[in-house]
Amino acid sequence: MKTALTIAGSDSGGGAGIQADLKSFAANGVYGMSVITAVTAQNTQEVRSVQDIDNEIILDQIEVVFDDIPVDAVKIGMLSSPATVETVADALKKYEPKHIVLDPVMVSKGGHHLLRQEAIQSLKEKMIPLATIITPNIPEAEVLIGGEIVSSEDMLSACRQLRELGAKTVLLKGGHLEGAPNDLLYDGESFHWFSGERIQTKNTHGTGCTLSSAIAANLAKGHTLYDSVKLAKHYITIAIEHSLALGHGHGPTNHFY
Ligand code: PLP
Repeated sequence: MKTALTIAGSDSGGGAGIQADLKSFAANGVYGMSVITAVTAQNTQEVRSVQDIDNEIILDQIEVVFDDIPVDAVKIGMLSSPATVETVADALKKYEPKHIVLDPVMVSKGGHHLLRQEAIQSLKEKMIPLATIITPNIPEAEVLIGGEIVSSEDMLSACRQLRELGAKTVLLKGGHLEGAPNDLLYDGESFHWFSGERIQTKNTHGTGCTLSSAIAANLAKGHTLYDSVKLAKHYITIAIEHSLALGHGHGPTNHFY
């Protein structure tokens, strides 16, 4: 069986982070493993508190997995601090996994910072250049390029700028713009639009985590990058259509619809 490893934060409410990643791995047919970078006390309404995991333990978790079990793809989510970014980047440089999907997680829907301001530069310099694909949404891309994105035209130039940061491929998710949610894939040679229709639901907690993990699972299974994104887009669309009205805030996507 193919395998995927998520390096990310824990969401006690089970909707995002490590928990979403492992469900997405399972639903997409790979064996999931996890390295926990931070523990969030979280539900569908709020991130109440966060505790970063010590970097020695983060490194041990990565090493103990790679030293024993084949890792076909890695997905990276919440990295919290500059030291965590560096620890994870250094370890990945050592093990050189074939596929690294980086979801540059920054702020939760409720406005809680999951990546500290001072870690953004480290993310750009140390982590993005290692990525096979990065999957920013519009607000994350705006932070990374330091400019506003308000149109399809802006998305095209943002993808070019994002790719200059060193990632092989960029998937810029357009859902935060008005109108139909269209995502743009850019590999340095050609652009590809994935057009979607907006699904009317507030239960979208963990969609970014679920999508990036599904891409990692598909890469682990040997699909091309384009097919991995296409299949993952299809999966997340149905997972949102069947999302769960659990809790009093933004409910989670449904991995096993
Ligand atoms: N909590 C953790 C641990 C995450 O990794 C993420 C996103 O990647 C979130 C929360 C944010 O989830 P959302 O913005 O979908 O509510």
